[in-house]
Amino acid sequence: MRWDTSGVDGVALWWLGQSGYLVYSAGEWLCFDPYLSDSLTRKYANTPKPHVRMKPIVAAPSELTFVDVATSTHNHTDHLDAETLHGIAPKKLVIPEANRAFVCDRLGCAKDWPLGMRIGETRPVGGFDFTAVPAAHESLTPETIGYVVRTNGVTIYHSGDTLLYESQAPLLRGFDVDIAILPINGKVGNMNHAEAAWLGKAIGAKVTIPCHYDMFEFNTADPAGFAAEAARLGTPHRILSLGERFVYSPNRKENDSPAA
Ligand SMILES: [Zn+2]
Repeated sequence: MRWDTSGVDGVALWWLGQSGYLVYSAGEWLCFDPYLSDSLTRKYANTPKPHVRMKPIVAAPSELTFVDVATSTHNHTDHLDAETLHGIAPKKLVIPEANRAFVCDRLGCAKDWPLGMRIGETRPVGGFDFTAVPAAHESLTPETIGYVVRTNGVTIYHSGDTLLYESQAPLLRGFDVDIAILPINGKVGNMNHAEAAWLGKAIGAKVTIPCHYDMFEFNTADPAGFAAEAARLGTPHRILSLGERFVYSPNRKENDSPAA
């Protein structure tokens, strides 16, 4: 079965490419920043910045119509894709409140449909408690955020697109993060593999999972560099292949073997 939830007593997650993660928790489904189309490849074809896909689309949006809640961390299309979100048609979309007008214009949705988050706010959406935390996609602004999600006894930090910023590690340490999902591409306003390995360790995450690579040829990084630095620092980590299931249980010491 494609999205197998058997034996999951905490959360299961699957990498969907770039910063997209599908999360199962106690009968509910969350999808962080899905990008499951070729809209950027089409948009930038025959321009000086072609967006050449490195891997095929892992799942059609129409295969994910069971998703309860999706997120967008900021307005870039690899994190807010109308084609993907129309196909998934989640019941709720969590966004930065500052992006409401832009998001509703891009998606053609009702102005009051997205759930807007301000930095520091915590809001429940079904079984997922969202807290909006800052992200510095170049600089700290209300239009770019990360999410800390507490669900079924597990705390997930999805950083969104961000550089390291000064208050980040102390802030995140306070959340007792289990799973940290961090970019490693090291360009276009994102931290690099070494910074991600450092941050995962600095916030005490039980497992750090790299993202934002293997999507576009001009903007990627080799996850082997992250793995080597994480091993050197002693950052528990896990590298997922596209569509691979990762199970994390708060009740077990041994999870799906995050490497130490
Ligand atoms: Zn991005």
